[in-house]
Amino acid sequence: MYLMSAWSDGFFSVNEAGHVRVNVSDESSNGIDITKVVEHLERKGITFPLLIRFQDVLKGRIQQLYSAFHDAIKDVDYASQYTAVYPIKVNQLHEVVEEILDAGKSFGMGLECGSKAELIAALPLLDDDDTLLICNGYKDQSMLDLILSGQKIGKSVLPVIEKMDEFRTYDGRAEELGLHAPFGVRLRLTTAGAGKWADSGGDQSKFGISVPELLRVVALLEERNQQDRFQLLHFHLGSQISDIRTLKKAVREITQVYSQLTRRGLGIKFLDVGGGLGINYGGSYASHDDAINYSLSEYANAIVSTVKDVCDAEGVAHPRIISESGRALTAHHSVLIINAIGLYAKEEMEEDFVPSAESHRLVNDIHALRTWLLEEPEMAIPELLEAFHDASGKRAEADSLFSLGYLPLEEKAVIEKLYWAVCRQINDRVQHFDSEVLPPELDRLDSHLIDQCLCDFSVFQSLLDHWAIGQRFPIIPMQRLNEEPTRRAVLVDLTCDSDGKVSSYVGLGNKEHEFLHMHGFDADEPYRFGIFLVGAYQDIMGDTHNLFGRVTEAHIYADADEPEGFYVEKVIRGTAVKDMLALVQYFPNDLYNRMNKHIRARIQEGKLKASEGYELLERYAETFNESTYYTMPKNREME
Ligand SMILES: *Cc1c(COP(=O)(O)O)cnc(C)c1O
Repeated sequence: MYLMSAWSDGFFSVNEAGHVRVNVSDESSNGIDITKVVEHLERKGITFPLLIRFQDVLKGRIQQLYSAFHDAIKDVDYASQYTAVYPIKVNQLHEVVEEILDAGKSFGMGLECGSKAELIAALPLLDDDDTLLICNGYKDQSMLDLILSGQKIGKSVLPVIEKMDEFRTYDGRAEELGLHAPFGVRLRLTTAGAGKWADSGGDQSKFGISVPELLRVVALLEERNQQDRFQLLHFHLGSQISDIRTLKKAVREITQVYSQLTRRGLGIKFLDVGGGLGINYGGSYASHDDAINYSLSEYANAIVSTVKDVCDAEGVAHPRIISESGRALTAHHSVLIINAIGLYAKEEMEEDFVPSAESHRLVNDIHALRTWLLEEPEMAIPELLEAFHDASGKRAEADSLFSLGYLPLEEKAVIEKLYWAVCRQINDRVQHFDSEVLPPELDRLDSHLIDQCLCDFSVFQSLLDHWAIGQRFPIIPMQRLNEEPTRRAVLVDLTCDSDGKVSSYVGLGNKEHEFLHMHGFDADEPYRFGIFLVGAYQDIMGDTHNLFGRVTEAHIYADADEPEGFYVEKVIRGTAVKDMLALVQYFPNDLYNRMNKHIRARIQEGKLKASEGYELLERYAETFNESTYYTMPKNREME
C-alpha cells in the first residue's frame, strides 16, 4: 500500500508489532524499532514534531555508494579510483557533516562547498591533508584568499572556476603570494539535464565557462608553462537527474574534453561528474516527475564505463573520478515524526433520518433523492450523473436562499448533511467504473469526500520542496501497520495557509496519490505519521512561515548491547517562541513590559484582581520558552 520496499532502499521495513524498523548493516543488531525510539524520547519530555536522524543509515548510504563504484571499477578494469565529495549545502548540520567524514574516512571521502559561509565551516574540518575540499559557486576575492590560505597550510582545497574574471582574480592573488596554485574548471556543457533542475546545466546555465574561454585559460597556462595547475574538470547537470541517458551523454562530452586537453599536455587528475544522483521518492520507475529510471549501480556503471570507453579510444590515462552526491547520501537518514491532532470527515446525515411535516421543501427533495438511490440498485452513469446534478442544484439553491434570509441555519445544516450522504452513495457506485469513462464531476467526487487529518507540523518548515515544486515524500502511519487502514485522508498542517497541506502521496493506483490510507484513531491514543526521505535539503531549508521554527531533533545510533538496540547520542531542542520572535525583532523584555502595562492599568481601574493580573502576566512570560508547535493536551481531549 505504501510502496515501502521500493523507496526504502532496504533501510526500512515493518516488524511484527506493526512498527517501522530501521535496518542497520551491523549483523549483531536486529535493527531499531522507530516507535521505541519515539516512546523513549517522549518519556524524556521531548516535544513533537520530531526529526530523528539515524546515523547508521547515513553510514550505510556511503557504503552503498562506494561499493557501487568499486564494483563498477572492478567490472571494467578501470585503471584509477573513485572519490566522493559531500556537497554540504544538502545538509550543513555540523553533526551530519562530521558523521559523513567519519563514515567516509576509510574511503578518503571529501567535501564540497558552494559559498563563503560553507567554506568557512568546512575548512577546519579537514583533519587529513589529503581530504579534498572542492569549492564551487561564485567566489569573491575574500573567498579566493581563504582558499589560497587553505592551500598554504597544506590542505587539498581546490577552487572550481565558474567565471573568467574569477580565474583572473585567483590567478593574480596566487601570483602575489608566490603560490603555484592548482584549480579546477566547471565547463558549460552542451548537454542539458532533464527534470526539475535542468537549468543547472546546458548552454543557458548560469554556471560554468564556455569552451572558447576554456581554451583561453589553457593558452595562458601553456605560455607560462604551468599546465599542471589545471587539475580538475567539472560539470553538474542539476539535482535528481531523471534519465540516465542524459548523464551518459554529459559524461561522454566531458571525457572528450579531458582527453583532448590531456593529449595537449595538461595535468588533469580529476574528472568531477557533479551531483544529481537521484532518489526514488515515488517508489516506482513510472514516468512521474519525481521518478528516476536507474539504480545506484547503473549510475556507477554508466559513469565508469563511459569514461573508460572514451579514454581508451583516445589513448589517454584514466582519471580519478569524483562525484558530488548529496541528495542520494542524506535523504534516507532522517525521518520526521508528526502527531495527528484530529481527523475530520464530511458530516453525513444518519441513515434513519426522515423529514418532518415542517421540513423545508429542499430538505424533502434531497431526501427523496437519497431514498431513490437507496432503492435503485442498478444505475448507469447518465442516471448517476443526473442524481449528482440534482443534489448539487438543490444545495446551491439552499445556499442562495440562506444568503437572502429565507432558510434558517438549522435547515441549511440538514441539507448539507443530506448532500454529503447523497454524494457518498453516488461515489460508492462509480468506484467500479474506469476513471476514463467517468464524467469529470463524478471522477472528482471521490476527492471531495476524503477526510482531513490535522497534523502538528508545517509544510513550509519541514517539506519545503513539496510546497514549492510538488516533490512527493513517502508518508506512512507509524503504528498499526499490521492492521488494514480504513480511512482516506489528506494531511493538513498548523499554518494559516491553504497551501499548508500535503497534496500528493506515494501510492500505486491511479488516484492513490491524492490521499493517504490511515486508521481511524481515538483521542486517547497517540496516532503518528513518519515522513521519510527528508534528510536532503528539507530540514536545512525550512522557511519560518507563521513563525514555526526548527523542529526538535534526535540523533540515534544502533547498538546491539543496549536493551532496545539503540542509544540516543544527542537531542537538539526545537526553536522556542522567543527565538522565532527575535528573528522578526520582538524581544521578551519589551513584550513583557508592554503586557505588564496593560495588566496594571486594568488592576488600577479595579477591573482585575492584582493576583489574577500577575498570574496572567506570569503565564504570558512562560510561553516565551515554549515550543512553537502544538502542545498536546495532557489528557489528549479533542472535540
Ligand atoms: C547542489 C549541487 C550538488 C549536489 O547535488 P545532489 O543532486 O544533491 O547530488 C553537487 N554539486 C554541485 C555543484 C551542486 O550545486
